[in-house]
Amino acid sequence: MILEEISKNAARFPQRTAYCQIGLNDSKTDSLLWGQLAEYSDNLAAYIAGRVSGRAPIVVYGHKSPYMIVCFLACVKSGHAYCPIDISVPASRVAAIVDEVAPPCILSTEPFPFEREGIVTGDEIAEICRTSPSEPVTLSPVLSDDVFYIIFTSGSTGTPKGVQITCECLDNYLMWAKTLGGGLDPEKHYTFINQAPFSFDLSVMDLYLSLFSGGTLAALDKAVQSSTAALFRALEKSSANVWVSTPSFADVCLSDERFSEALLPQLEKFLFCGETLTNRTAGELMRRFPKAVVVNTYGPTESTVAVTEVNITPEVNAEWSPLPVGREKPGTRIFIMDEAGRILRDGEKGEIVIAGDTVSIGYLNKPELTEKVFGTYEIDGKSCRLYHTGDKGYRQNGWIFYCGRLDFQIKLHGYRIELEDIESNIMKLPGVRQAAVLPVYRDGQVRSISAYVAADRSDADDFQYSQKLRSMLRKYVPDYMIPKKFVFVDALPRTDNGKVDRRALGGMRA
Ligand code: AMP
Repeated sequence: MILEEISKNAARFPQRTAYCQIGLNDSKTDSLLWGQLAEYSDNLAAYIAGRVSGRAPIVVYGHKSPYMIVCFLACVKSGHAYCPIDISVPASRVAAIVDEVAPPCILSTEPFPFEREGIVTGDEIAEICRTSPSEPVTLSPVLSDDVFYIIFTSGSTGTPKGVQITCECLDNYLMWAKTLGGGLDPEKHYTFINQAPFSFDLSVMDLYLSLFSGGTLAALDKAVQSSTAALFRALEKSSANVWVSTPSFADVCLSDERFSEALLPQLEKFLFCGETLTNRTAGELMRRFPKAVVVNTYGPTESTVAVTEVNITPEVNAEWSPLPVGREKPGTRIFIMDEAGRILRDGEKGEIVIAGDTVSIGYLNKPELTEKVFGTYEIDGKSCRLYHTGDKGYRQNGWIFYCGRLDFQIKLHGYRIELEDIESNIMKLPGVRQAAVLPVYRDGQVRSISAYVAADRSDADDFQYSQKLRSMLRKYVPDYMIPKKFVFVDALPRTDNGKVDRRALGGMRA
């Protein structure tokens, strides 16, 4: 269905901008019209169909660029799921993902970090996009329960796991997402802010809402996001109507008084997901953008971006702390369960379990892990998939409230991180005997991470040694997973049953 909507939009608005990326300087540097999006992705799809047999997933590597979107669509139009990998992922992790996906080819809009067969470079992609096939090619796009995309998230074993989202999941998600915050007027041209890299499922919210509604995606790349001056210039030029980001990113923007209705006069909605939206952030946004609706949504990658919603009005903000994450969407049921799988009563805290029509079919090539956290459930006589989120929550007044994790997964600046993922990678570093990674909280939010390391080392100086560990760790994990502090200990404290005593470590000074 989404592909049909995209075709219709391209036919209706060929001259409308589908994607624009406002660069570090004043001009809207990179952009793509709807007509070009259709033509380029058709040409690239025909190229893929002519060279790749079967329907195996394809890796799309790069950052923000109009060609990323073209590649995604070319993959699904030619019957292949796509797996986006951002340039921020270090080479060894890219290699692990590529090994897992085993793609027949890699579409690489940026220089690929290592040599491999089947890489189609950025220049080649641009050339193919502009070349119509010499003979007409019949395409058989992904459909219904075919996988549409695979997004890798942090895994506790030290290697990321690939969440497979089907075409149906995405369609079901979009049917609801288009209604968020009062809905999208089908006659209106919306511009959506894209903050998250395409390898994070939050970007699915802005990218596909924009493609679904015939809108414009205004992408903020890494360079723009790291310079306040460039960021505010880009925001001002975006004429955005819909904001999609983590609350952390909104907090960064709110730290500057200029972030207000005067900067984004056409902004109608803030759509948040991925981490706790605090009363303070919501209140400040309502003060500075009195005409905009603030929407909190909740969900993991495993259930296609989000499954609950609530509009945060001044009344809701005044009455509830923490803020609710809202009610489940149609087609989804949420249960709060205890460890034995019993459904708990309102007010009782337990695990948030999601059942419904957007739950993933499981992790790529990981049947055991899939079996551990996914299951099935019957809704209205129809069997649907179910996912144990590992999130702790409760229901009150019909609303779901999120109150932390049952395991060692955290969100830092909006990024999902398994602390054991970092620990496993620190353990790979020479000399390290033991490692434990702990979140550092302030005002109820994770502000940084600290690593506690026992190591045999020659460097006498803690600072130098931690710098060395940091630079070695960068080979294995993205920058956002590098601990801010390293604390060196002779041995990690253990509980009576032999596990690392995280409580005792928390008491150590970091
Ligand atoms: P991701 O798969 O990266 O989207 O991360 C999913 C996790 O983010 C969830 O399992 C929650 O732990 C957290 N999360 C998502 N939405 C919210 C929200 N609105 N409030 C608090 N935590 C959230």
